[in-house]
Amino acid sequence: MEILIWLFVLAFGASFGAFANVLIYRIPRNLSIFIPNSFCPKCKTPLSWSDKIPLFSFLLLKTKCRYCNSRIPTFYFLSELFGGLLALFCYAYFFTTPSALALFFLVLVFYALSAIDVHFLAIPDSLNFLALALSLIFAFFYYNELWISCIICLSFIGFATFLRLFVSFLVGKETLGEGDLLLFGTIGCALGVFYGAMAIFISALYALVFLLVMRLFWGYKNIAIPFIPFLFLGFLSAFAWQIV
Ligand SMILES: [Zn+2]
Repeated sequence: MEILIWLFVLAFGASFGAFANVLIYRIPRNLSIFIPNSFCPKCKTPLSWSDKIPLFSFLLLKTKCRYCNSRIPTFYFLSELFGGLLALFCYAYFFTTPSALALFFLVLVFYALSAIDVHFLAIPDSLNFLALALSLIFAFFYYNELWISCIICLSFIGFATFLRLFVSFLVGKETLGEGDLLLFGTIGCALGVFYGAMAIFISALYALVFLLVMRLFWGYKNIAIPFIPFLFLGFLSAFAWQIV
């Protein structure tokens, strides 16, 4: 019986991992996320149910579209795998509590935002506000002190706005997108003051190392990099730190 529950959790997570792919592909292109049915991004043929079984279809179709034979990006499979593993983790750590569900959807939306930022160097407000709302819901169930979480959230947004003005003034051009400011609040609200601050510090460290490697090994200078994937990694690192 226990194994069936774990399998159900894995399937639940992988299905929403597949839904994250839909969000990542459609929202920046201003397409509806429900209509039309899923289609191959290359030949636009609508997919049948057997082409859409999370994790399995990618392997059964041998990574190729059934209709036009073009390669299905491995990224789709990785999103499903990520969703599955994330659900298993949330269930193992929080069992079937509202905190587990809120954390699962928060991390998944944060993941989608990171992937969108990598592709488009901008993020949709709709998903950004959704992440903030999920963070507040998680804080409400996990910390039980919603008003403190709200104050932390606003303080982090205030701090980010100040940091943005200060750094932009120093380097003479705009740094940190407006979307990043809201995510600072999302992180602070979900992790609390200490781990939230650590998450942002770790994110900046990751981004700095990345820029340094790009500069030293590939000779890139003055490149614009998406910051949200680093915020996401920083968030995961600080969260792991918090629970060990
Ligand atoms: Zn196709």
